[in-house]
Amino acid sequence: MSDRSWRRSPEAFAAGVEQALEWMVRYMGDAETRSVWAEREPGEIASKLPRVAPADPEPLEDVLRDVQQIIEPGLVRWDAPGWMAWFPSNAHPDSILGDLLASVTAQQGMLWTSSPACTELETRMLEWMRCAMGLPACFAEGGIGGGVIQDTASSAVLACLVAARDRVTDGAATRAGGDACGGLVAYASVEAHSSILKAVGICGIGRANLRLIPTDDVYRMDAAALAEAMRRDVAAGLRPCCCVATVGTTGCGAIDPVSEIAEVCRLHGVWLHVDAAWAGTAALSATHRDMVVAGAARADSWNFNPHKWMGAAFDCSCLWLADRRPLIDAMSIDPVYLRNSATEAGEVIDYRDWHVQLGRRFRAMKLWVLLRRTGVSALADMVGFHVSLAEIVERHVQQHDCLELAAPRSLALVCLRHVGGDAETQRVIDRVNSPGRFAATHCVLDDRLAMRVAIGAISTDQDDIEALCERL
Ligand code: PLP
Repeated sequence: MSDRSWRRSPEAFAAGVEQALEWMVRYMGDAETRSVWAEREPGEIASKLPRVAPADPEPLEDVLRDVQQIIEPGLVRWDAPGWMAWFPSNAHPDSILGDLLASVTAQQGMLWTSSPACTELETRMLEWMRCAMGLPACFAEGGIGGGVIQDTASSAVLACLVAARDRVTDGAATRAGGDACGGLVAYASVEAHSSILKAVGICGIGRANLRLIPTDDVYRMDAAALAEAMRRDVAAGLRPCCCVATVGTTGCGAIDPVSEIAEVCRLHGVWLHVDAAWAGTAALSATHRDMVVAGAARADSWNFNPHKWMGAAFDCSCLWLADRRPLIDAMSIDPVYLRNSATEAGEVIDYRDWHVQLGRRFRAMKLWVLLRRTGVSALADMVGFHVSLAEIVERHVQQHDCLELAAPRSLALVCLRHVGGDAETQRVIDRVNSPGRFAATHCVLDDRLAMRVAIGAISTDQDDIEALCERL
């Protein structure tokens, strides 16, 4: 007879939380004193882990000991004040609290019926974010468009490409597949994120049919070149389908001219998706909003990641659509075991129809707790503060004899290089990274190496930036 040893009482959970909390608080507090990069050899962590799972229960103390001794040394400190690599990935404590509450509720938000609270809080959080960021009314709750939380920007662009593909083929791509995708073409700039290339491959447009449009001298998509590429494709009997404009490119944060691109897309009935994965957060700040949301009213879809700069613990990616129908038409399926009266009455949102997967996490909770506990004004203030820190780095580079800006500073991202060439720039990157206080990564602009300083970790302060300048 089973002893039901798998069950846990709320009291046992509370005792476990108390024990784990000790580790969590210590971990959160020591980001400044640890090396930012994990100094381990490949396989070193795995070698300390048993090959098979335990058959019998182990005490939590043993688990927490191994978290500290085996896992912790292999963790990269994205939360460190010296974190300036790639982009920030902040997990604000208020959002962690929200995530914990969401985990306890164990919701599955695939249908309204499977979790009315998960569905309705999500819809309202997208509306809160839309208003806080000054995004246009075409994305509003209650209209023909609306918002959804995706796991990542990669999933968001894939979903929008599928919708765009079906809009052009009148659903034939989903119904029939194969030849229905013939002749479809997508567009993005040479500086656009690699997730677009992945998505065109997955959705059947094909990687060879993604046109990488050249950029101007500050790495923004050249709208005239886009117009010419589309004109040529149409003349050749091809079918332009979707264009992705980037607001804040991964390399140097360039902001594509969305309004001009929208004009070109409109001429050919092409779906315009805006990828503002990192820079979107800056729209919270009135000072930076206009450059981030410019042209958004003319986009079919618009996406940003609160899990980057804004502080929502990974994962959380907000996607808005001006018209949700093409996405839902492409993603909707109706298996008998999910049928229910609310769906059939057509009165509710079933978010399973807004992306690839069926099951979905209760991500809105962490946004709700973050927005209520921290407040929009404080998050806007954080953006302004990080931009002001980036201005310090920018000025330092401008005044330095051996360094130069590799691109204009974009918000809190500075790209720089050594005037002596790539080998010297690599030496600068290595020296900044080597003592373990700072993490910075690179990009390539015009075939030349550049070092990226992506400021935005919640803990970064002015003395960290002064120390970075000193190091540079
Ligand atoms: N788009 C841009 C501009 C990015 O910089 C990134 C990642 O850094 C992505 C998309 C992909 O984001 P995700 O990891 O959420 O798929």
